[in-house]
Amino acid sequence: MSVSTARRQHAETSLRGRVLLVEDEDAIGALVESYLGHDGWTVVWVRSGEDALQVLASEPVRIVVLDIGLPGMDGFDVCRRIRARWPVPLVMLTARDEETDRVLGLELGADDYVTKPFSPRELVARLKAIMRRAEPDGEVELELGDVAIDRDAREARVAGEPVELTGREFDLLAFFLDHPGLVLSRERLLDAVWGLTYPGGTRTVDVHVASLRRKLARPELIRTVRGSGYKAVEPEC
Ligand code: CA
Repeated sequence: MSVSTARRQHAETSLRGRVLLVEDEDAIGALVESYLGHDGWTVVWVRSGEDALQVLASEPVRIVVLDIGLPGMDGFDVCRRIRARWPVPLVMLTARDEETDRVLGLELGADDYVTKPFSPRELVARLKAIMRRAEPDGEVELELGDVAIDRDAREARVAGEPVELTGREFDLLAFFLDHPGLVLSRERLLDAVWGLTYPGGTRTVDVHVASLRRKLARPELIRTVRGSGYKAVEPEC
């Protein structure tokens, strides 16, 4: 069978995932957290830019909602730092009528902004619109051979049985399944899964590939391409 048989599915739930909410005001944070949570998103709520950067460095985030007025590092600074390291979609929360704030936010790389006071419904609509732009195909479920993942649930299965993976292992597997048959260099994998500035070096990729092979018990799924990197191919089951 050819690798082109990798199957992709579309689903409305693809617009959900983990949201990093950076907001120091309790009332607004609680409102957004509860509304997004009710809508099926997983919300990680922090109150400072420093905490936001820590979350991004340690767990996968699908979209960031960032308030401008924060204690310590302000939202613009946080936005600049996020943009320097991660390609994650980002929405800024700005005060009413502060046009300069909106312009500066967009110049710094925010994908959109929502002006306070906003309705949670409006925020959700913006998030969904941005996610559609950022992930145009909205493919949540990918499979190659009998290895399958669900990006929303962040679940991996082999022959229908769930396999426990770390966050990075999952992201790495997702990237492989998203690019079946393509030779992917260690540098490209490192950039895609860990971010360009990750100090661990390409050896990290090798370690995670080895661990994926072991956990999936499909060593031939991720093939080593000597001198070039790795390639995902459909394993013989
Ligand atoms: Ca604030």
